[in-house]
Amino acid sequence: MPHRVLLLEDEPAIADNLIYALRNEGFVVQHVGLAREALSAFAQDGADVVVLDIGVPDGSGLDVYRQLRQHDAVVPVMFLTARAAEIDRIIGLELGADDYVTKPFSPREVCARIRTILRRSQASAAPADTGPWRLDEAGQLVRYAGHALPLTRYEYLLLATLLRRPGRIFDRPALMDLVWSDAPDTSERTVDAHIKLLRAKLRQAGADPAVIQTHRHMGYSFQG
Ligand code: CA
Repeated sequence: MPHRVLLLEDEPAIADNLIYALRNEGFVVQHVGLAREALSAFAQDGADVVVLDIGVPDGSGLDVYRQLRQHDAVVPVMFLTARAAEIDRIIGLELGADDYVTKPFSPREVCARIRTILRRSQASAAPADTGPWRLDEAGQLVRYAGHALPLTRYEYLLLATLLRRPGRIFDRPALMDLVWSDAPDTSERTVDAHIKLLRAKLRQAGADPAVIQTHRHMGYSFQG
C-alpha cells in the first residue's frame, strides 16, 4: 500500500518539484499551501508522514506541528526550512520532529529521508500482543499460546514486522526494506518464500496460518 504524504509548502516551484519526485517514488501526495489547510487535511484524511514548510502565508509550520501533535502523537513529521535560525528553533523547542531539511534541497534527498523516517517509525511501533501471540523483542522470539516458535532470523523479523502493526498491509518492497535491510540483493520471491515457510511453522505450532493474509497485488498483513 503506498505511503501517503501530506505536504505543506506555499512556494509552487518547490512544491511541484517535491510532488513530482515523491509521486515518482510511489508516494501518494496531498499538497496544501496554507497552515489551516494542512490541519483540516490531516484531520480529514490523515497521513503516514507530514512534511511541513515552516514559513507559510497564514502562520508557521511550527504552529501546525504543535496543533497536529494534540491530535496525533505518533505521525512522523519532517520540516522544510529556508533559514538556519529556524533550525535552531526546531531543535531549541525540542519539538520532537523526526527530521528537517534546509532549502535549497534535492527532492531525491527528501524522498530518501522520508523513507528512513517511515522505516524508523514502523520499527519503533509498539510491540503487539494480540490474542495468543506475544512478541518478545528483547529475546527475538514470537510466542504462540505460550510456546516460542522455532523461527530463523528472517522468519522472526518478518513475523515481528507484521505483528507490530496488525491489519496493516506491507507491500513486498517495504518488507524487503524492513526485514532484509542487511541483504540488499533480496528479491520479492524471497519474501514470498519466507511467508510460505512461516505459515508452515505456524501450522506446525497449532496456529492458524491464515493469520498471515495475502492481499493480491498489495502485500501481506497479520490479522490476529
Ligand atoms: Ca514558504
